[in-house]
Amino acid sequence: MSDLDLTLLHAALSGIPSLDRSSLLPALHAVQKIYGYIPEAAAAEIAALLGVPLAEVYGVIDFYAMFYREPTARRVLRVCSDPACALKGAETLLQAACDHYSVAADEPTPDGGLMVERSPCLGLCEHAPAVLIEETALGGVTIGGMLQAVENPHIGLPIGPGSRLGGDLHLLTANIGRGRPTSLQEYLDGGGYRGLRAALQTSPGEVIEQVKQAGLVGRGGAAFPTGLKLQGAASAPGEPKYIVCNADESEPGTFKDRVLLEEDPQRVLEGMLIAAYAIGAHQGYVYIRGEYPYAGLVMAQAIEAARQAGYLGVRVLGSDFSFDVELRMGAGAYICGEETALFESIEGKRGFPRLKPPFPTTNGLFGQPTAINNVETLCNLPHILEHGPQAYRAIGTEKSPGPKLFCVSGDVLRPGLYEVPFGVTLRHLLYDLAGGLPDGAALQAVLFGGAAGAFATAAHLDLPLTFEDLRSAGLPLGSGVVMVFDQSRDLRDVLLRLGRFFAHESCGKCYPCQIGTQRQHEILQRVAGGLTLPGDLERLQDVGWTMSDASICGLGQTAAAAVLSAIQIWPEIFLPVNQE
Ligand code: SF4
Repeated sequence: MSDLDLTLLHAALSGIPSLDRSSLLPALHAVQKIYGYIPEAAAAEIAALLGVPLAEVYGVIDFYAMFYREPTARRVLRVCSDPACALKGAETLLQAACDHYSVAADEPTPDGGLMVERSPCLGLCEHAPAVLIEETALGGVTIGGMLQAVENPHIGLPIGPGSRLGGDLHLLTANIGRGRPTSLQEYLDGGGYRGLRAALQTSPGEVIEQVKQAGLVGRGGAAFPTGLKLQGAASAPGEPKYIVCNADESEPGTFKDRVLLEEDPQRVLEGMLIAAYAIGAHQGYVYIRGEYPYAGLVMAQAIEAARQAGYLGVRVLGSDFSFDVELRMGAGAYICGEETALFESIEGKRGFPRLKPPFPTTNGLFGQPTAINNVETLCNLPHILEHGPQAYRAIGTEKSPGPKLFCVSGDVLRPGLYEVPFGVTLRHLLYDLAGGLPDGAALQAVLFGGAAGAFATAAHLDLPLTFEDLRSAGLPLGSGVVMVFDQSRDLRDVLLRLGRFFAHESCGKCYPCQIGTQRQHEILQRVAGGLTLPGDLERLQDVGWTMSDASICGLGQTAAAAVLSAIQIWPEIFLPVNQE
């Protein structure tokens, strides 16, 4: 402890929410912000303060990619190298940064000033190529702009050229596009919190009934009916109950939740309030991925503004209903987007998924009944409560009602966030709204649903974008990723990046995924490097089917989805060169 400035350490720890294990991640964040890493003495102090065995504190530090046990560098430059950024020159950026500072990727400079990291998706795909310099996200960045920003970092919205928002509807995105967060007053001026007021005029059971009648299903990937989830948590025995907003948006190609959080945070809070009232929860958590520092800052300010105005806290708007929200920041672990891993993370543990059942509605956060919902899902609730389920069902199709946000990236003229009614075609989304492919290039492939998704081709252009049509075509809607590749792109390289992502993000709890993602990555390295061995196609299928069937959670179950889909469409790219 003698090497540490105790004043600084105690000042950092004084701001953590409570002196128990659930404050472990906030405490580690606070300490790392001061020292740039978690010194041994600080880890010991945290362990003693929170009553957590020191070995377990180290286990948590080691689990999360954004925590460091050793001095690394005073600042970290994260260069996204996932597919959407790779298409726009991410490798050139990464190499230029390494050359400029005379370091290899993931190694600090000799003076400890900077580390250049190869990063998984930063959720800035519409601004590709993107980098994160400490807390500053930059999109559409040039080499010169990146190096300049390293010297002058400041927190703010990503900067980049071109269109970022479009679509046929502006219900969820009504407040998006100011280039800054919508204030509470602006939200109110636009009709904000009318949904909550309507909910408070009726019973919690009636709120759930309206959500069920609206036919809202989750927008995070699992597509579970939201009304049923609320009903399950409401009727589960046990108090307290919790609402959790899953803002750990980490699926490569996905950025819709980041935009909602950064530009319309009160809508997210109103959705949480309505859900909390429905199930009888008095406490909620927003869990935002660590790579979204600006969204975290905006949401912290929005929570405080809502508290000051009586929308959060005791007796919300003078009613008998009380509810407050705590913000939690992740620390670089994709698996924490899995709902039970996210609970573990809030509880101050490594983000290992739990076996299900039991499900979160009965045994969720802290073992209590919990409704956990995606950001976009929650943002639908104010509209449903304000206008009623019939008005909501008038949007979209009978089996897929409502508006949907699509994250369009890659080879299109106008990458961005598009809000459309369910049922428009892929052609409409890509060509009418996103401007088609640059220079009239031919469409080779569209990756649907992100890294855990599947490929579509030009044959799917007239497919209506609904849950039912996509499902029957074998395409996952997932989190709304639509990543476009023109005819010139090497899909082997795209698959290699997906394979590397899963090998990096597997939490290692179960062997099919822990080992399978590594083997899959190794084979994809051979395929991308032109060194494919006879039988590699069959090996990829074998590994993929095993992971899909035997893994514990959704990560392992879908880690081979894109590869298996590519094998079906383009088997020739997995053959040794002389057999193609
Ligand atoms: Fe962890 Fe993968 Fe198993 Fe999920 S499937 S628990 S991510 S090892």
